Amino acid sequence: MNPSRRLLLKHLAFRAAEISPLDGLISSPADGERFVTWPEVADRSKRLATALSAWGVQPGDRVATLAFNDHRHIDAYFAVPCLGATLHPINVRWNLEEMASVLEHTRDRIVFVDPSLMDRAMALADRCPWIEHLVRMGPLETGVGPTAARAGVTITDHDELLQSSPPIADWPDLEEHDVMAMCSTSGTTGIPKTVAYSHRTTCLHTMAIGLTDCMRLSGRDTLLAIVPMFHALGWCFPYACGMLGSRLVLPHRDLRPERILDLLVAHEVTASVAVPTVWNAVLAALSASPGRWDLGHLERIVSGGAAPTASMIKTFRDEHGVEVIHSWGMTEINPVGTMSPAATTREEAALNPDQRLRHQQVAGRPLPGLKLEIQDEDGRRLPHDGETTGRLVVSGWWVAESYAFGHPDEECFGPDGRLDTGDIASIDDHGRMAIRDRGKDMIKSGGEWISSLALERAIGDFSEVAACAVVARPDDRWGERPIAVISLAPASSLDLATLLERLAGDFERWQCPDDLVLVDSIPLTSTGKIDKKALRARFPS
Ligand code: AMP
Repeated sequence: MNPSRRLLLKHLAFRAAEISPLDGLISSPADGERFVTWPEVADRSKRLATALSAWGVQPGDRVATLAFNDHRHIDAYFAVPCLGATLHPINVRWNLEEMASVLEHTRDRIVFVDPSLMDRAMALADRCPWIEHLVRMGPLETGVGPTAARAGVTITDHDELLQSSPPIADWPDLEEHDVMAMCSTSGTTGIPKTVAYSHRTTCLHTMAIGLTDCMRLSGRDTLLAIVPMFHALGWCFPYACGMLGSRLVLPHRDLRPERILDLLVAHEVTASVAVPTVWNAVLAALSASPGRWDLGHLERIVSGGAAPTASMIKTFRDEHGVEVIHSWGMTEINPVGTMSPAATTREEAALNPDQRLRHQQVAGRPLPGLKLEIQDEDGRRLPHDGETTGRLVVSGWWVAESYAFGHPDEECFGPDGRLDTGDIASIDDHGRMAIRDRGKDMIKSGGEWISSLALERAIGDFSEVAACAVVARPDDRWGERPIAVISLAPASSLDLATLLERLAGDFERWQCPDDLVLVDSIPLTSTGKIDKKALRARFPS
């Protein structure tokens, strides 16, 4: 195939530089807000490509980022894949153990690091002897002293790297199945699972998310990308803006609701994307200060990664005139699977607002190129009647076929490219999917996974503990929070403070249980497994 016909990121991500040269990014890292035009993005990416080549980056090499959403992260987002290497954003919220366990496989020699995370990066470099270069994405913040890395690691300033590197003449011609990025999510065992995205899957996915019946993204939009770029390629919104020429607002690390509202107003943002935890906090800030922010420009927001409440969708609509587009997805599918705007068919457009609201509460229809089915435990297909629930299975253009380096959770990838999502869902006779429950033993708190198994193993090792189960408790602010249900060994005692103190070495504070509940015995299923369903019902809130 002629290279110009291939689905390559370079053909898509730099389109904005050609069609909308005066528009670009508004980025607000710690060293100050700035506007970077799309042609400047293209130029910076080409300079970075030269610098990476000079460091010997070859096609297939992985280049990591440990960073927030800003223009320097965009440099890496565009340059690394278009050069033929693999972009590897690391989740900054993970503990060192989780980060190192992924790098054990990916073996990144170069890590782009936000200045506020330099200590973290240097601890990572101590653990990972193959790391050679840390690129500091901006000046050190006031009050932070200069830092030295271990022998064998250079620290280079991002902007100086660009200034000293001329732009490459042309991007190489790659194959569309070449890997362009790797993203990791937490697995049930606590060991991260890494998924590879190809140029082809990312291009097709990026084309789809902006469609009229998905997010209606246009070059006239200003998009505030709150979803972190270290999560599943920031849901590909940076590439969608590069494709359409939409203005992209990048908030960096401060995601307090007041800051988000200030950005929405100051930049006349028309569209935004985040998890429900963020949107609930934004609504709380709005109701705490009536009249302080006017969301007159904001038309629609995507809420994905966890289930939004009906009241959140309704309040945005009724009090602020904002449409909530509910989205479901997962890292294994590049990551967006469904989007559910208020009305996509002629039939839905004729409904009254409250009837439409019911459709927005469900995750919605698959994006073009994807197919959703539900099946029973034996793999038999179940009817799409809106009532029957079963395991949600997805197949299609950007569904991964395996984890990049294998994983104990690998059995979710079935024959024929079908992926068992671990979610329990129903699908109605108009193709609308509703998530009803979760089959996987994980807790999602503020859009981040917590492995109940990893906590149970750690707590189960305490001599005071006879048996332990960690379950999700619904939480207004975070969606879910873990609680530890424990039966004690004879003549033992244990309190929450001791539990937290002991877990502190291996878990970040946000990953630890909020509560400890002592019980006489942990309920078991007929097969002898912990009966999580019974436990969740016993501790509803
Ligand atoms: P991740 O791979 O970390 O993005 O997590 C994907 C998982 O998050 C899905 O399999 C669901 O369990 C959950 N999830 C994502 N979107 C939604 C949603 N709209 N409603 C409920 N759960 C969701």
